[in-house]
Amino acid sequence: MSASRVLVLNSGSSSVKYQLLDMRDGSRLAVGLVERIGERTSRLAHAPLTGGEKRERLEAFADHGEALKAVAEELDRDGLGLDSPDLLAVGHRVVHGGTRFTEPTVVTDEVLDAIEELVPLAPLHNPANVTGIRTARELRPDLPQVAVFDTAFHSTMPEHAARYAIDKATADALDIRRYGFHGTSHAYVSRTAAELLGRPVEDVNVIVLHLGNGASASAVRGGVCEDTSMGLTPLEGLVMGTRSGDLDPAVLLHLARVGRKSADQIDELLNKKSGLVGLCGENDMREIRRRIDEGDAEAQLAFDVYIHRLKKYIGAYSAVLGRVDAVVFTAGVGENAAPVREAAVRGLEELGLAIDADLNAVRSDAPRLVSPEYARVAVAVVPTDEELEIARQVHALVRA
Ligand code: AMP
Repeated sequence: MSASRVLVLNSGSSSVKYQLLDMRDGSRLAVGLVERIGERTSRLAHAPLTGGEKRERLEAFADHGEALKAVAEELDRDGLGLDSPDLLAVGHRVVHGGTRFTEPTVVTDEVLDAIEELVPLAPLHNPANVTGIRTARELRPDLPQVAVFDTAFHSTMPEHAARYAIDKATADALDIRRYGFHGTSHAYVSRTAAELLGRPVEDVNVIVLHLGNGASASAVRGGVCEDTSMGLTPLEGLVMGTRSGDLDPAVLLHLARVGRKSADQIDELLNKKSGLVGLCGENDMREIRRRIDEGDAEAQLAFDVYIHRLKKYIGAYSAVLGRVDAVVFTAGVGENAAPVREAAVRGLEELGLAIDADLNAVRSDAPRLVSPEYARVAVAVVPTDEELEIARQVHALVRA
């Protein structure tokens, strides 16, 4: 039997999420998470899905190296270890690929150096991604390590969508342009939506709304991204759990000049203390809805600001695409919050959008339509699966 398993690693600043998938059928063999890496007590939660008990380890993992070694030990205990001949490759989620990386890429020393050079564009994420790759290479030097970039799906954006209207020489000198993020999710969801509509992906235009704690929209024509709401960093665009999304850039100048805030303080304010949290002190949409039901005006305003921005992007991307076949909701809020879907679509009948209240109220893990049959534009819910998409891309590259 040829090797068919792919280990997917998603290394964050103090965490590693992992999944081991069998690409003969896309099934999961094990899933887990290490969090609080570098703190006094880290936590490893491991779940074998081939039978066997879920396990938890509370101990100090000083860095990603120690954490990944512990993950390898846990996989070993289930007979799924990194030295298994069934393991084909390791796939790494890498947040920023800059303009260079537009496809999944087998990691070499030179590739690793290039990912490190992109750290100024993603200071919180790329260092952890690099450490994850280095450690996995040390554990299995002979195994292909493949980097899959969050920015890659958006690299097809035309220049007029990727450019900011600022001095070109300055922009080029500092690599300032719109890159977009959540690309793996937008790729997976737009393709799955075409399958749901029963049409070839090349024929279908979709607006994908990835609404999680981070949130982004994309306009995808025939499987190719034409625009997306995140830009140089994941701060631009929609209102998010803790990020502001779009702002007048002069707000930053005002914060610096009049508010006397430093660059780091502004960074923290806009990334961690803004969005829904900034507006009402809460970023969990369930809690916001509960407060709205109790008549809380602050929560209602936060919800209204969130929905207003979402509608603006649906309108903008309808104009970008000209013809829209489906608006697709995904991620934590998009998959679960029926009131968000209903409010985002309400009043957009002239754009061909409508929602069926009964279909919208159904809870399910399956991709599904929530629009009535008569609607010109389908409204769909497609649960995202970034790990499966990464594993598929890795499998396709390594087996090619
Ligand atoms: P994600 O980043 O995709 O994991 O999404 C996380 C967010 O999804 C949370 O912060 C919640 O706001 C939201 N969420 C998860 N479940 C629900 C639910 N049942 N109803 C509303 N929002 C939800």
